[in-house]
Amino acid sequence: MSPKLRPLWVAVAFLMVVSSAFAQSRSGSERRRSRRVRERPPSYSMGYANGGSLANGVRLVEDARVRYLPGRRHHHGTEELVAMLRRASAAVARDFPGSRLTVGDMSDHDGGPIGHHASHQSGRDVDIAFYARDARGRARVLDDYVSFNGRGLPIAGGPWRFDVARNWALVAALLEDPAVRVEHIFVSSPLRSLLIDHARSINARPMLLVRAQLVVHQPTHALPHTNHFHVRIACPSGDAQCVEGIKPRPRPRRRRVASARSSSDRPAHGRAASSSLRRR
Ligand SMILES: [Zn+2]
Repeated sequence: MSPKLRPLWVAVAFLMVVSSAFAQSRSGSERRRSRRVRERPPSYSMGYANGGSLANGVRLVEDARVRYLPGRRHHHGTEELVAMLRRASAAVARDFPGSRLTVGDMSDHDGGPIGHHASHQSGRDVDIAFYARDARGRARVLDDYVSFNGRGLPIAGGPWRFDVARNWALVAALLEDPAVRVEHIFVSSPLRSLLIDHARSINARPMLLVRAQLVVHQPTHALPHTNHFHVRIACPSGDAQCVEGIKPRPRPRRRRVASARSSSDRPAHGRAASSSLRRR
């Protein structure tokens, strides 16, 4: 080999060695990634929140920023819900150091009905106790749900105060989550007003304020939620069997005697027909 060409060949050999090592390392990382995927298959929310199930649910684990409300045993959700709660609890703790999110019921490991809840079946629901302060303004964690009125005072009396600044920080973190869309945050109308008024007073971003006014509300067919937030996320993208909204209740069946009658027997007018059916 010509001495002039030797440096060129050395450079080519060096590049081949480096690219081979890079390829090996990439295939190794791909294998690790696929193994990770096999170890934890993606979660799936299926069906309605009040008539569905959860596949491969993820458990929300307690840590420095998240704790369970004592006595609550259902802490599974979709991976999106669990990740969102982690981000939201971290956001509140950044603004209010030492804060821990107190989480009530989520869903069962496989979803389906759980006691005391019509929904919470498909891994998209979570109950969250309010952040509270004591009468001297010190942050406190609640070991049970406490109902508050529109002035932020406990309805049944007691030393707690609704911590409007921290509760708004939580709502804002949930609504501004970068990866998950919140479908509803249920809370009573008086507490909603406290939160919205606070957001206005601190000049919350107009878009956030509008979104809060749309998403945070008192439910129409359930208890008003004076003692906790009920948060429901939208269907995660890719969960093809997930259904938003509420599963309609089956309509009451008409009495069979009406359909058994011959057409000539039927009264000519609807109102007469229905009153006749009611009497029977
Ligand atoms: Zn709930």
